[in-house]
Amino acid sequence: MMDIEFVKETCITAGCHIIFMIPKSVKEEFQRTHESFYCPFGHGMHYPAKTPEEKLREQLALEQKGKIDAQTRLAQKILEVQTLENKIKEVSTAFDSCKSEEEKLKKRLKDVKKGIKARTEGELDDYVKKRLETKTEQKRDNSGKFAKKQ
Ligand SMILES: [Zn+2]
Repeated sequence: MMDIEFVKETCITAGCHIIFMIPKSVKEEFQRTHESFYCPFGHGMHYPAKTPEEKLREQLALEQKGKIDAQTRLAQKILEVQTLENKIKEVSTAFDSCKSEEEKLKKRLKDVKKGIKARTEGELDDYVKKRLETKTEQKRDNSGKFAKKQ
């Protein structure tokens, strides 16, 4: 004959509180499933407390969620860093482009200044030459040796 181990149980319904015996394996099953059962007077009962297995499973789920959240945050940070790196590259490229544009403009400005200086000097030379020629002619006129230019 197989021995069945029984355990004491008490109905918690107000005015009942009957004490009765149930097989230990049945109690453990009800604790695991949280399924309803009845006291000998028909009051519904169940075990709401979480089993150690449920507690462990919940803790594991929380830890996994925390791990996933941390991974998500990490992925977001990596994305932010990549975005910033791209921005830096863009700005750096734009800066280089401005720098080379500035060099071109400086060179052009130098050329233009050189051109203006050359032209001014040329015009000045022409002016001086003309003035000298005019003076020479005037001198010649004054001396009377040369005829006045027609
Ligand atoms: Zn009862």
